[in-house]
Amino acid sequence: MNTRILLVEDEEKLARFLELELMHEGYQVEKSGNGREALSLALANHYDLILLDIMLPGLNGLEVLRRLLKEKEVPVILLTARDAVMDKVSGLDAGAVDYITKPFAIEELLARIRVALKLHAVRPAAPNAETPHDEEGVLRWQELVLDDRRHDVRYAGHEITLTNREFLMLKTLLENKNIVLSRDTLLNKVCGYEYAGETNVVDVYIRYLRSKIDDAFGIRMIRTVRGVGYVIKSDED
Ligand code: CA
Repeated sequence: MNTRILLVEDEEKLARFLELELMHEGYQVEKSGNGREALSLALANHYDLILLDIMLPGLNGLEVLRRLLKEKEVPVILLTARDAVMDKVSGLDAGAVDYITKPFAIEELLARIRVALKLHAVRPAAPNAETPHDEEGVLRWQELVLDDRRHDVRYAGHEITLTNREFLMLKTLLENKNIVLSRDTLLNKVCGYEYAGETNVVDVYIRYLRSKIDDAFGIRMIRTVRGVGYVIKSDED
C-alpha cells in the first residue's frame, strides 16, 4: 500500500520541488496551498503523514493543526520559518510530531519523514516489519543490551554506567537502527523541544557514549554520517 502524504505549502516552487522529491521516494502526494482547503482534505481523506507550512492563506497552519488533531490522529511535520520559535513551540504543544526549519536540506526532511512514519504510524505495521523491541523494553546491537525498564545497559554482560541523557540518546539510536538521525532530532529527543541551545551538544553526548562503549570495548557502533547526523546500523561490517 502506498504511503500517502498531504503536502500543504503555498510557495509554489517549493511545493513543486517537494512533491517531486517525495514522489521520487515512492510516496503518493497530494498538494494544497490553502489552509482551509488543506483542513477539509485532511479531514476527508486518510493520509499517513502531513507536511504543513505555517504561514498559509485561508487558515494559518497552526489553526489547521489544532482543528485537525481534534478530529483525528495523524502525524504532522511543520515547515516553519527560521525565527518563528513561538510557532514551533505552539505547533508541538498542539500535537505536531516534528518540525523542520526552512530552508532545509531535502535529505533531512526525508529522514524526518521516515522517522515520523515509523514512530507514529496510524495503521498497524505490516506483519513482516522489523520490530525494534525483541523483548518488551529491550534493545540490542550485537552484544550490547539496553533494558529500558531496568534502565540498564550492558555489553557482553559488562555493566555500562550512563547518564540519563546518554541513555536516552543511545536508546533513540537503537530504536531507529539504520535511520540516520540528525543532530536536531537527537537534540529534541534528548533535551526536549524547548531546549534552545546549540546542536553540537549532541556531538558531546555522542563522544561520551563512544568513550564508554565503542572505545571501552573496541567496537564501532555509532557511525557518523557527515553533514547529516548519526546512525547505528543493524549489520556489522
Ligand atoms: Ca507559506
